[in-house]
Amino acid sequence: MAGIYLHIPFCKQKCHYCNFYSVASEKNKVSLLDALTIEVDLQESYLGNEIVETIYFGGGTPSLLSANEINHLFHKLQANFTISKNVEVTFEANPDDLTKSYLYSLKKTPVNRLSIGVQSFFNNDLKYLNRVHSADQAYNSIKEAQHAGFQNLSIDLIYGIPTLSEINWQKKLEVFFSLNLPHLSAYALTVEPKTALDVLIRNNKTNPVQENKVADHFQILLDQMSTNNYLHYEISNFCKENFYSKHNKSYWFGGKYLGLGPSSHSFDSDTRQWNVSNINKYINEINNGHIPAEIEILSLDQKYNEYILTSLRTIWGTDENYIQEKFGNQYNLHFKKYVKRFIDDKKISIKNGKYCLTDSGKIFADGISSDLFV
Ligand code: SF4
Repeated sequence: MAGIYLHIPFCKQKCHYCNFYSVASEKNKVSLLDALTIEVDLQESYLGNEIVETIYFGGGTPSLLSANEINHLFHKLQANFTISKNVEVTFEANPDDLTKSYLYSLKKTPVNRLSIGVQSFFNNDLKYLNRVHSADQAYNSIKEAQHAGFQNLSIDLIYGIPTLSEINWQKKLEVFFSLNLPHLSAYALTVEPKTALDVLIRNNKTNPVQENKVADHFQILLDQMSTNNYLHYEISNFCKENFYSKHNKSYWFGGKYLGLGPSSHSFDSDTRQWNVSNINKYINEINNGHIPAEIEILSLDQKYNEYILTSLRTIWGTDENYIQEKFGNQYNLHFKKYVKRFIDDKKISIKNGKYCLTDSGKIFADGISSDLFV
């Protein structure tokens, strides 16, 4: 089982918190799409004989692609890889692109899972984040997507925004529940170094993010999602039964994946590689028949640490039998020695040899994982 990720590195404008590689211009769109199809040829043996079960259009802003462009890319993948007939095809979209006519054309492509970058239903939050869309556009895009027939529908929301009060975070979640959506990705606002938000905060031009507010919002999120019967299947992700992201689950449990496009990452079980984060360099190198990627061979320590980091964040948990089989006794002893304190503190619970974060442990997920690393 394998996945393919396509990075569409264009945006209408840069959101202040964003540290993904993208540019606020569509100038090179045609050449980039040509280069992507060449990269598909150059990488056709990367996944070996694995069947591709998931395809993910991410960005940037994939919803800047037309239906013809999406179909063209999909057919190119079909020509070079073995694609499962039940393939999950996720497509990230921004609300301002999701007009009725665009959604109906999108419905005729192989896209069968839509992930809408809503972030907030309040204009003051959207302004703080420098999102290009309005609260009304966010709401209407979801309704239109439902009318167009998209059932496997997810939205992203951000909490911990300085403009977002506790009451409004609850209201934001109430809007989500009223829409009867099967999936939510909810992220804490983080200030990544060198983003516009980082610079604005350091120059006292905008309000800083408060850690205690983030923690309070996270607790509200856990309570509300549980009350409304959503499965908290990963720290930032909630779903109704069977609506989890297959693509992300495969990442978390060591599935192979091929990343196409500038800044995309690939993983083949033993090595990780990442393409250059520069559109022009990417296009030039690909046009010369060369993949502009750096490669890292992963050590057993790195593989173990990555397994701990990703598995512990999920409802499926960290499996001690898997550690024993995959990494050996030494790693299993290390894990058991260091996990004990978190079990005693009730931050981690064990069931059938699987270790999962408790609700009180979830807020400390990153710190707990790093204490379990070798
Ligand atoms: S739309 Fe997405 S990728 Fe583009 S700047 Fe905003 S957060 Fe980043």
